[in-house]
Amino acid sequence: MATTSFTKKSLGLETTEPAVTPPPASTTTASFTKKPKLGSAKSKKREIPEGLWTKCPKCSTMVFDKELDENLKVCPRCQYHFAIVARERIHSLVETCTFEEMNAGMTSVDVLQFTGVASYTNKLAEYQKSTGLKDSVITGLCKIGEHRAALGVMDFSFLGGSMGSVVGEKLTRLIEKATEKNLPVVIISTSGGARMYEGMFSLMQMAKTCAALAYHAQAKLPYISVLTHPTTAGVMASYASVGDLIIAEPGAMIGFAGPRVIKDTTQAELPPGFQTAEFLLEHGLIDAIVSRKDMKQRLIDYLTFMTESRKMATTA
Ligand SMILES: [Zn+2]
Repeated sequence: MATTSFTKKSLGLETTEPAVTPPPASTTTASFTKKPKLGSAKSKKREIPEGLWTKCPKCSTMVFDKELDENLKVCPRCQYHFAIVARERIHSLVETCTFEEMNAGMTSVDVLQFTGVASYTNKLAEYQKSTGLKDSVITGLCKIGEHRAALGVMDFSFLGGSMGSVVGEKLTRLIEKATEKNLPVVIISTSGGARMYEGMFSLMQMAKTCAALAYHAQAKLPYISVLTHPTTAGVMASYASVGDLIIAEPGAMIGFAGPRVIKDTTQAELPPGFQTAEFLLEHGLIDAIVSRKDMKQRLIDYLTFMTESRKMATTA
């Protein structure tokens, strides 16, 4: 272990300034030459402005952003899964032009007239502007492989993927639509939990989404819950943890309360790897760990298996 981290460190820890950091060993060093006359093949890289490198928090390698994008935001050296925004995620999973978004314009109302450091209304406006989203979930009907499915994808970049009335309502409508149309549901979660700005209203979404899923389950339709980093608190305590199949991305932090709170409450040392996808797989909370690049194919395989078994069960 120690040797690995040593070699990896030497790859990118020389400096944290992106523009002067040497690229990883496998990429060309000529890309940093300042004179624009050298070699036409490399001229493209030279035109790229400063700051387009991201340091991998796991292996410290500086990864070229374009390479990271092409690799679905997974570190090509150590497979660390960076956060990915909902639209990119949808693009990576569904068949081209099959995604029909539902309730795209639904936005939160500041029912409690919440004010703290900033008012909730201002926060919403700020995040809507910076992310281009209306709230932290995108829902819609789509095709994944040959399967028609109802897909909900959360986005951590919008207020920490927090679950307020809009997330609850959009997911509930998605699940109800799936029940009505006999479709499987796939929800990709990432969330810090309930949205505190909406107080009790956000907590009510836990019951509402689960009730819709219960009707969906009564119709014997499959629900696959995909947990990505991080999936915690109110979301993990409701729809994210009641999948017929629960799968997670590698290294995802999954849990209800944070480790510090648990440690303080139980006054006990937490085992290594506590609240990671790998730990939870070993302890039976989740069914599989699937890397982002394999996610689409695995979803297709699972949906094929689950819908085929359903057909067999209904015809028997
Ligand atoms: Zn890495």
